[in-house]
Amino acid sequence: MKIIMLGAPGAGKGTQAKKIAEKYSIPHISTGDIFRANIKNGTELGKKAKTYMDQGLLVPDELVVDLVIDRFAQDDCANGYVLDGFPRTIPQAEALDAALAKINEKIDYAINVEVPDENIIKRMSGRRACVSCGATYHLEHIPPKKEGICDTCGAELILRDDDKPETVQKRLNVYHEQTQPLIDYYTSKNVLKEVDGTVDMAEVFAAIVKVLGE
Ligand code: ADP
Ligand code: ADP
Ligand code: ZN
Repeated sequence: MKIIMLGAPGAGKGTQAKKIAEKYSIPHISTGDIFRANIKNGTELGKKAKTYMDQGLLVPDELVVDLVIDRFAQDDCANGYVLDGFPRTIPQAEALDAALAKINEKIDYAINVEVPDENIIKRMSGRRACVSCGATYHLEHIPPKKEGICDTCGAELILRDDDKPETVQKRLNVYHEQTQPLIDYYTSKNVLKEVDGTVDMAEVFAAIVKVLGE
């Protein structure tokens, strides 16, 4: 099963993608996580990506597409994957389709997690991310057991630089301009499924499972 998660920054794509990956035994591929790991490790890619990410801008398509398509060659992708944060532009979606068409494959579902902008701004200021394993929490909705500490690995939780309110507004603008057109794109391919992302995370997941099947 090949799944794409669509939705604004903070809509809950990552939260749901992790649960999908677990239930359907497919890898969760997050381009944001890949870039953050590269930044942490001080790679050339990380240095380039950081200049865009810090400004709330998208990393250029040519730095993203091959990275993701190469990832599909790993053994764990044999039964599909859930893509979180990719594609984010029409050219990325076209490159993905072209790469899949070459091997006679296609995306099965593009799940749009729908959350209005007003809710997003509030959500992002409460998001806390683990510096080590990438787990995500929310101060009110999904708090860690111990304040400031990751439940899974015990590392420190931080507010991402790009989750500060000034940058969030900019990321939302970028989302509406560059990523939202993918909703029409995948509608025209007959794979788009909408779920309400404003309800609690278990309800969102139940709606997704209804779409994907048990
Ligand atoms: P969120 O989950 O809040 O939407 P991500 O972790 O997916 O954020 O992405 C963080 C940042 O990484 C983005 O704002 C963007 O700069 C960069 N990024 C991630 N994926 C892509 C992509 N597919 N194309 C371009 N830039 C990307
Ligand atoms: P995205 O990957 O789309 O940027 P995340 O999955 O990181 O979004 O979620 C953004 C923030 O909102 C996180 O702090 C997360 O814990 C929280 N969150 C996710 N889903 C919900 C939900 N259904 N209700 C309330 N908060 C949520
Ligand atoms: Zn952790």
